[in-house]
Amino acid sequence: MKRRDWRRAAGITAIPLLLALFTSPVHAVNPIRSDGGVSLAGIVGPGQPVSAAPAAPGPCNDPAYSLLGGKWKQPLDWRYQSTSTPGYLKGSNVLKVINRSFNNITGARNDCGLADTVSATSQYLGTTSDKPSVTRRARCSPPDGQNIVGFGPLPAGILAVTCIRYGNNNNISEADVRLNSNYDWVLTVAACHPWQQLLEPTMTHEIGHMFGLGHVGEKRHGRLTMSTISDGPCSNDETTLGLGDVRGLRQLYPQ
Ligand SMILES: [Zn+2]
Repeated sequence: MKRRDWRRAAGITAIPLLLALFTSPVHAVNPIRSDGGVSLAGIVGPGQPVSAAPAAPGPCNDPAYSLLGGKWKQPLDWRYQSTSTPGYLKGSNVLKVINRSFNNITGARNDCGLADTVSATSQYLGTTSDKPSVTRRARCSPPDGQNIVGFGPLPAGILAVTCIRYGNNNNISEADVRLNSNYDWVLTVAACHPWQQLLEPTMTHEIGHMFGLGHVGEKRHGRLTMSTISDGPCSNDETTLGLGDVRGLRQLYPQ
C-alpha cells in the first residue's frame, strides 16, 4: 500500500499542543502577552498561578469536551524512550512525572470534587530505545505496535505531539507522544523558571489525547486541560482536570 493510502486507512491523527508564550527561549519581561485576541498566560513568577484565559469559565464550571472518535478496549500499555531523556534531567524523575500524568487522566484527578468514575487504565511496561512514531516535523510515522513516550526535536511553538491510530470499530490501536526536546523542561513548580516548561501539565494533556479526548477552544475553554494552548511555562493548573475533561473521560470510559 502506498504511504499516503496507508495513512488514510490507518486513521492517523497528529495532534500538536501549542506553546503558550515564547517560541524562542526569550526570558520573560512582559507579564502578559496576547496572540490573536486570545489572552495567554501571564508570567508572574515561578510557582504563582496564572490565568490563561480570563474570558473562559473556571475549570469546574466549564462542561465542554470533544472526543477524537475512538477509545481503548484494553489497558493502555506504554513504554518510555529512556535514551531520549534530556541530559539535564534524570530519567527516573521524568518517569515519575509521566506516571503521575497517566494517573491524572485514568484517576480523573480534579479540584472540583468530582468522583473518579472513569474506568480507563494504563500500565507502564518499561523503557525502550525505540522512538515514538512521530516525526520531527510533527507528523505521524508508520506505527510499530507500541505506545511510546519520548523526547525529540519538533518545530518551534509546539510543545508536544500525540499520534493516534485506529483499528477495528474505532478502537485506538496505538498512541505515541513526542515531547519537543528543543524546550527546556522542568519537573517541579518549585524549580521552574519562566523560560522553562513544566512537564506534568503538558504530559497530562497529551495523555488525554492518548485516551481519546480532543481539543476544546482556547478562547472559550482555556482553563480546561484539553484546551489547545498551554497555560504558560510554570503554570501547573492544567495538571488537574476540569469538569469538561472529566465528563469526556466518563463518556468514553464509563464504570
Ligand atoms: Zn492537544
